[in-house]
Amino acid sequence: MARPIMDRVFVTAKAGEIVPRMLTYGHVFDGDTAVDEVLAVYMPGPGTYTAEDVVEIDCHGGSVPLYRTLKLVMASGARLAEPGEFTKRAFLNGRIDLSQAEAVMDVVGARTEEALEIAVARLRGKFSEEIGALRSALTDVLVEIDVNIDYPDEDVEEAEAGKIAEELGKIKASIDDLIASARTGRIMKEGLSVAIVGRPNVGKSSLLNGLLRESRAIVTEIPGTTRDTIEEFANIGGIPVKLTDTAGIRDTEDVVEKIGIERARDAARDADLVFMLIDSSEPINDEDRMILSGLDPATAVIFFNKSDLPPAFGEREAEEFAGGYRHVSTSFADRGSIAAVEKVIKDFCAAGGSEGSGAGSGGLRTEAVKQGRVVTDARHLSMLMNASRSIEEALRSLEAGEPFELVEIDLRGAYESLGFITGDSVQDDILSEIFSRFCLGK
Ligand code: GDP
Repeated sequence: MARPIMDRVFVTAKAGEIVPRMLTYGHVFDGDTAVDEVLAVYMPGPGTYTAEDVVEIDCHGGSVPLYRTLKLVMASGARLAEPGEFTKRAFLNGRIDLSQAEAVMDVVGARTEEALEIAVARLRGKFSEEIGALRSALTDVLVEIDVNIDYPDEDVEEAEAGKIAEELGKIKASIDDLIASARTGRIMKEGLSVAIVGRPNVGKSSLLNGLLRESRAIVTEIPGTTRDTIEEFANIGGIPVKLTDTAGIRDTEDVVEKIGIERARDAARDADLVFMLIDSSEPINDEDRMILSGLDPATAVIFFNKSDLPPAFGEREAEEFAGGYRHVSTSFADRGSIAAVEKVIKDFCAAGGSEGSGAGSGGLRTEAVKQGRVVTDARHLSMLMNASRSIEEALRSLEAGEPFELVEIDLRGAYESLGFITGDSVQDDILSEIFSRFCLGK
C-alpha cells in the first residue's frame, strides 16, 4: 500500500523516477493545487523500521501544509498510527524482540548520556543476548533431565542430580546478578531521587539552584514561601538526579503550609537520599530535632549550612545533634560547597560495592551498563525474580531427591519467565499495555 500512496500524493515525480531508498524531490498536489514542496522516500520492506513497506514525506514544518498533506495521505487509504504502533509492528514482524521494543521508549526518554547508552545497548539486543544465553543454558539442563526421565536409573539419576544442581546454581547466580543490577538500572532510567528538607530559610533553594546551575526555584528572604515542593532534574556526573525542594518542615498552624509539610515528609520517605539543612548561624531548635527524627540514617545527610557566618553553636553540639547521621559543613553562598554535595551524591551511588560483586551490591555498575547487562525495566525485574524463585524450587527438589519430573516443571516455569522478557511467550493484553505507554509516532 505504501508505494501507491506515494504515487497518488506525490505526483510531481513520475513513477519510474522513484528509486527505493533514494530521496526524491517534488511537490505534493491536491488536484491541481500544489500543497507543499517536499522530499520523499520509498523504502520497501523488510529492511525498514517496521519490516514493512514505508513511505516518508518530509514537509515544511508549518501546521497547514502538514495537515493538508496528512489529509491527502489519509484520503489515499492511510490511517493515523496508534501510540507505539510502528515499534509494535517491528516486534510482531520479528525485526526486534520485546525487550528491544521497550528500549525504544528508554532511548526517547533518556535524561543523560549514560542512560542513553544503556537504552541503546538494549535496543541493539545486548540485554536480549543475556536473556537468550540464560534460556539456552536452561534448555541444556532440560534436555539432560529429559534423557534421565526417559531412561530412569537410580544410580545415574543421583549422579546426574549433582551435575544438574551445579549447572542450575550457575544460571541462578547469573540471574541474581542481573536482579542486583536493577538498582543501577532504575537510577539511570528514573533518576536518583534526592529530597532537600529543613526549616525555612536554611538554604534549600540555594542548594537546589546551585545544583541546577540556574535559578529555577525561588530564592527568598521570607520564611515559609516555598509552600509546595519543587522538582527538578540535574545531571550529576552522568547520574540523572531528581531534586525535590520541600516546603519548610515545621510545626505550624498554617493550613496551606501543613499540606506542604506533609508533602515534604512524603518526599523524604520516598527519596533515595535526603539532604537535611541546618542554619549554623542560628541555634538548633526543636523543629530541627523533629525533622531529623523522621529521617533514616542510612539515607540522610546533614548539611550544617551558612558556615561562612559566625556559628551559633559549637562543634560538640553539632556532633551531638548529628549522632549517627553523616554530616558536612557547607556554605551554599559558595560554589565549592556545591561540588562537595555533588561528591556526596556520586559517593552514595558508588557506595556499597564494586562491579561484579554479586547480588546485593549497591554500587553503580558502569561496566555492566556498557555491556547491556543491566535491568532497567520493572517488568523484566519481576520476570527475573520469578525465574530465580523457580530455579530455587528446582534446586530444593533436587536436594530432596524428588523425581526429575517435578524439577522439570519448575525449570519450564523459569524458562517461560525469561521468555516473557524477550516476548517469546507473552499475552496480547500485556503487549497492548506495553505499547500503550509509547508516544505517538514511535
Ligand atoms: P530556603 O528557605 O531553605 O529555601 O532558603 P533559601 O535558599 O531561600 O536561603 C535563604 C537565605 O539564605 C537567602 O538569602 C540565601 O541567599 C541565604 N543563604 C543560603 N545559603 C547561605 C550560606 O551558606 N551562607 C549565607 N551567608 N547565606 C546563605
